Amino acid sequence: MTAPIPLIAGNWKMNGLAAALGEARAVAAGLGSAAARVALCPPATLLERMSSALSGTAVLTGGQDCHAEASGAFTGDVSAEMLADAGAALVILGHSERRAGHGETDAIVAAKVRAALRGGLEPIICVGETLEERKAGWALAVVTGQVRGSLPAELAGKDFAVAYEPVWAIGSGLTPSLAEIEEMHTAIRAALLELFGDEGAARPILYGGSVKPANAAEILKVKDVGGALVGGASLKAADFLGIVGAL
Ligand code: PEP
Repeated sequence: MTAPIPLIAGNWKMNGLAAALGEARAVAAGLGSAAARVALCPPATLLERMSSALSGTAVLTGGQDCHAEASGAFTGDVSAEMLADAGAALVILGHSERRAGHGETDAIVAAKVRAALRGGLEPIICVGETLEERKAGWALAVVTGQVRGSLPAELAGKDFAVAYEPVWAIGSGLTPSLAEIEEMHTAIRAALLELFGDEGAARPILYGGSVKPANAAEILKVKDVGGALVGGASLKAADFLGIVGAL
């Protein structure tokens, strides 16, 4: 089974007005021959314009969430089909800010993953423990439980990525030790092999949580780290390119 192709994805979260599209253009212009697939996930308001601006470049675009239904009376929501219609190739699902702030359970995330597949999008499915869970010694059980609960069987044969993002490392400047990252990625890989057989070896497991140019190289070298999901450092092209170039 072939090794996963690394993926570096930027999550702009609720940041970026039209003027920020220049950063996306600068990422595309500075990419060179990257060793990874590269994606930017802007807010939904910028998705179509960013997809147009990046069309013909190597940079993919993605959404940050989608509803489980294709259309209907869901005020304020966006479906996978709409994201694809706006040019997205991927969608981030189950981010801890959605799980914590919007009550998304594993079952809800799994339904959104099915929706992403229905809409032709490649899901990046986020998992991660809180600091309290890590301190209690539950991190491995929590995260592998999220993997089992959030990844539906329909992912068999489909492209997807898992992003391990310890909740306490997001936007905090803190990161787990390299040994802790390796331990978690090994456990997630084992869960993927159990769920999807040999195919589970070919799906990238991204690390996310305070990745920046200064720590990217050492994190990306850890066994079974197949790329990164980057928040704050994806907002500036120079920082994001520094992370991509660390591969
Ligand atoms: C994220 O929210 O997905 C993330 C990784 O954020 P940051 O890089 O800012 O910690």
